[in-house]
Amino acid sequence: METIMSVETPGSQSSLHRANLERVLRAVRMAGSLTQAEIARSTGLSAATVSNIVRELSEAGTVVVTPTSSGGRRARSVSLSADAGIVVGVDFGHSHLRVAIGNLAHRVLAEESEPIDTDASADQGFGRTEQLVARLLEQTGFPAEKVIGVGLGVPGPIDVETGALGSTAILPGWTGIAPAKELSRRLGMPVLVDNDANLGALGELVWGAGRGLSDLAYIKVSSGVGAGLVISGQIYRGPGGTAGEIGHITLDEAGPVCRCGNRGCLETFVGARHILGLLQQSHGVDLTMPKVVQLAQRGDLGCRRVIADVGRQIGTGVANLCNLLNPRRVILGGDLAEAGDLVLDPIRESVARYAIPSAARQLSVVPGTLGGRAEVLGALALVMSEMSDSNALPTA
Ligand SMILES: [Zn+2]
Repeated sequence: METIMSVETPGSQSSLHRANLERVLRAVRMAGSLTQAEIARSTGLSAATVSNIVRELSEAGTVVVTPTSSGGRRARSVSLSADAGIVVGVDFGHSHLRVAIGNLAHRVLAEESEPIDTDASADQGFGRTEQLVARLLEQTGFPAEKVIGVGLGVPGPIDVETGALGSTAILPGWTGIAPAKELSRRLGMPVLVDNDANLGALGELVWGAGRGLSDLAYIKVSSGVGAGLVISGQIYRGPGGTAGEIGHITLDEAGPVCRCGNRGCLETFVGARHILGLLQQSHGVDLTMPKVVQLAQRGDLGCRRVIADVGRQIGTGVANLCNLLNPRRVILGGDLAEAGDLVLDPIRESVARYAIPSAARQLSVVPGTLGGRAEVLGALALVMSEMSDSNALPTA
């Protein structure tokens, strides 16, 4: 009988304890540091349980407890030990590769980005990533064994079942490749992959304009348009990993043909190709999105007009999103976010016009605060939120 008693069954004391440990660790990982009262609030555990778990984690060296004050009262601030492990973030864009290394206490230890050729093969891309990760690791002074995991961002939806890039129209050299598997093989480290919009949402949630919120949408407008949805503190991906494809809601059934095969998708009216197409005749063929934003800010009427029109179209999509999900905040990312109120005001006007008043009443539409770093920081946050805590847990 005794051997049976020691087997861990779901719902047993020890598995419950372990689940509580993991909840506490995850809450601290996502926030960077929390007081014990904040841990109790965000995990729903009692103050006594939190206190016991924190003591256990502290004795094992997993967390560090420092005295602090909260609302004028003495409190204990809990953060993960700086040497509990490190995480690596990799962001693969259309034209850039960005890598960051951080510790579990939310400090970025090293970060670098370099341009890549859009048409480069996946093999070349992975090779460059391998080199950059090795170089940055060396800068931090940590050995590879300290890496808990790698978060990888790619510009397209990931098929949940195969782990392969769902859309091949974005990165032509990556057809049929399962990026997480391939990078994991090369680095000898566990790799988690997600699309850039989801990582942007996670980055802003943990480090930027979404801090402290549990319901938000991050809308990335660049070559394509995608949304990362955070619902009740978690990224919502849907069973197939396709949630958030806001760029393909239909605005005009008779509109231009989209790369998805449909007609009149939002993306065909607000994507970089459309914007540049409208302006190239008047402003020259070597126009780029950063240049359009710069010209608009200097008062160029044509660029201002196009950005305002695009803002109104994005706003229509955002209004639909509000009616469906009622987020607290919509965060705009990507090239166009740099235009600030020139694009945000028209978005807000469309939301005011098309969203149900109660769905938009508490909504704020803001630019991201992380700029081009949102995805790579989100890749760090992905590892912190989703990696199994088994490495960091004290052994019972
Ligand atoms: Zn489409």
